[in-house]
Amino acid sequence: METLALKVDPKRPELDKIRIAAGVLRNGGLVAFPTETVYGLGANALDEKAVLRIFEAKNRPADNPIIVHVVNRDDVYVLAEHVPEVAERLIDKFWPGPLTLLFLKSEAVPNAVTAGLGTVAIRMPSHAVARALIAEAGVPVAAPSANLAGRPSPTSAEHVLDDLSGRIEVLIDGGEIGYGVESTVLDLTTEPPTVLRPGPVTIEELKEVIGGVEVHPAARAEVPVEVAIARSPGMKYRHYAPVAEVVVVEGPLEGVIAKIQELVDARRERGERVGVMATEETALRYRADIVKVVGSRRDPRTVAKNLFRVLREFDAEGVDFAAAEGLEPVGIGLAVMNRLRKAAGHNIVRVEQAN
Ligand code: AMP
Ligand code: MG
Repeated sequence: METLALKVDPKRPELDKIRIAAGVLRNGGLVAFPTETVYGLGANALDEKAVLRIFEAKNRPADNPIIVHVVNRDDVYVLAEHVPEVAERLIDKFWPGPLTLLFLKSEAVPNAVTAGLGTVAIRMPSHAVARALIAEAGVPVAAPSANLAGRPSPTSAEHVLDDLSGRIEVLIDGGEIGYGVESTVLDLTTEPPTVLRPGPVTIEELKEVIGGVEVHPAARAEVPVEVAIARSPGMKYRHYAPVAEVVVVEGPLEGVIAKIQELVDARRERGERVGVMATEETALRYRADIVKVVGSRRDPRTVAKNLFRVLREFDAEGVDFAAAEGLEPVGIGLAVMNRLRKAAGHNIVRVEQAN
């Protein structure tokens, strides 16, 4: 199969191109498309055979469920068995946008979408291309991130092609992505609701709207989640992982810089090719084979936006070992640290002070 790449204006996507892609979706095909979080890989959520093709194209484990994307609020009542009152408030405030809500599923949702679970995850994206595609297709669209399972999520059309070229019918190239990390996942089937995956909608923002919110230990990702408590199957898989060995160093900044340099020196002595994921404020402090600026410590949103690209670049440049600076795990910084700690396979070094 040859993947058809359609380049569109990300703000005002050309309807003729969107119609081609929507037709492919309606006929059971796979379409990768930009959203405000990362690129997604879509199939008609009501067509079980089409959904199963997503698992095949991504090599996704069959027990990892997929988020359903909608543009009509009414679809929630079709896909969910029960919509609690807190959902209405959250939807009013955060949709369209990067918040995924977990409900008890209705009969309308094929088992392949939810990997046999009794819950369905639903979100309404805000990206003009995603919205146009779903609206034209006229069906809810099941879409995980458009990468091979285990790889960093794609934040550009090139990343999608690197992983999925020849495995999917269409890629809609809508250029750069906004947030760069996947949506916040909030389970509304628990009391209080539980954040299963941190994302661009922060815990602080959720609390302002619904008061009590629990944070699942997997959302912090400080240690691997035991299979027995993995409420969201995706929690238990190795994720976002580059080929290189990654370590995250966390703690007071001067201590972090000193520790990273020490780790880098030791690895280089062994003849390894070593990278540092640094920030604007610190990049000049390191001596390594490759030093990359992921963003500014003063604005963690910039780090979120570049994180997956930098992880992919380390691989492309043949890095054996990469050391990354930790950020404060608050606001969108928690989403960044969740992805980074997972990319590192929970290989975390904590420092107390500079010595
Ligand atoms: P992605 O594959 O990048 O789209 O991530 C989707 C995330 O949402 C994964 O971590 C899934 O495990 C999680 N998810 C999707 N549907 C459900 C569901 N019904 N119950 C629990 N987690 C879900
Ligand atoms: Mg993913």
